[in-house]
Amino acid sequence: MENTSQTILVVDDTSSNIDILVELLDGYDVLVALDGETAIELAIEEDIDLILLDIVMPELDGYQTCLKLKEIESSKDVPIIFITGKNDEDSIEKAYDFGGIDYVTKPFKPKELLARVKAQLKIRCLIEHLEHLSSFDVMTGIFNRRKFFEQAQEGFDKKPNKSCAMMLDIDKFKDINDSYGHPFGDRVIQKVAEIMSTNVPDGAILGRLGGEEFAIVSYNLSWEDNCSLVETIRKLIAKATVKHESGKKIQFTVSAGLAMYKPALNSLDALLKQADDALYQAKEAGRNQSIFT
Ligand code: GH3
Ligand code: MG
Ligand code: MG
Repeated sequence: MENTSQTILVVDDTSSNIDILVELLDGYDVLVALDGETAIELAIEEDIDLILLDIVMPELDGYQTCLKLKEIESSKDVPIIFITGKNDEDSIEKAYDFGGIDYVTKPFKPKELLARVKAQLKIRCLIEHLEHLSSFDVMTGIFNRRKFFEQAQEGFDKKPNKSCAMMLDIDKFKDINDSYGHPFGDRVIQKVAEIMSTNVPDGAILGRLGGEEFAIVSYNLSWEDNCSLVETIRKLIAKATVKHESGKKIQFTVSAGLAMYKPALNSLDALLKQADDALYQAKEAGRNQSIFT
């Protein structure tokens, strides 16, 4: 879990303090800021894993800087350790109230500070790992059902009347498993996910809803562009093959259903249900086709 290429931002208005910290943090990528405003700019521009923040600084003090960092999307979850000469209880309480994760008083013990830095970086690493596990489907690397619904809902709430839902399901997939084995079936699922993710435009949300079922929600495309997106994906999948251990190249197909927003479909669930109904019609009509509603 330890990663010496992690980036630590050190914020202190006294350059001699910065020098001591930079030396102590040898082995990490260290960025420095002599004031709160610069710290905020760096937090927006750079990918930062931990912030060491002084409290007493002219202009924006450490507390105000911390509050601002917590409001910015890219830095709101970055742990902040206050390092300060202030050691009264009220200052310490305030630091935690404002979003600090730890508090170290100057003069600090170098080994103790380093241990605290390492501990926070390790926790951050674990949190990121857990977030990844809870958001991405392990087999395909695309959003899992939970994350798909979370993201799709967020997009729908912003642009309901530009939303379009697409459901895709691998045809006769049970037969593929039965004929070539479950591990081969998994590779077919991976291939379908790969084709979908390389063709889904920016801003659209793709997820594996379960088994061999996938969904896309787009928010910026015309009716024609949505239909052609689904058809492009369906045709690419129909042309793709996955090589079986016998050397045989196996083909497979998907069916798809599409539903574009209309006043009667005024929730994400209603839109996805309509797309699912269209998918069912595509199956009924003989599979390897798309139905647009
Ligand atoms: P249809 O064309 O109507 O969709 O038929 P189908 O056979 O694809 O649909 P059905 O729902 O009957 O079967 C889906 C199969 O997918 C059953 C299940 O065992 C299999 N399956 C579900 N998840 C996985 C998975 O992660 N890996 C593999 N290999 N198979 C899976
Ligand atoms: Mg100071
Ligand atoms: Mg199926």
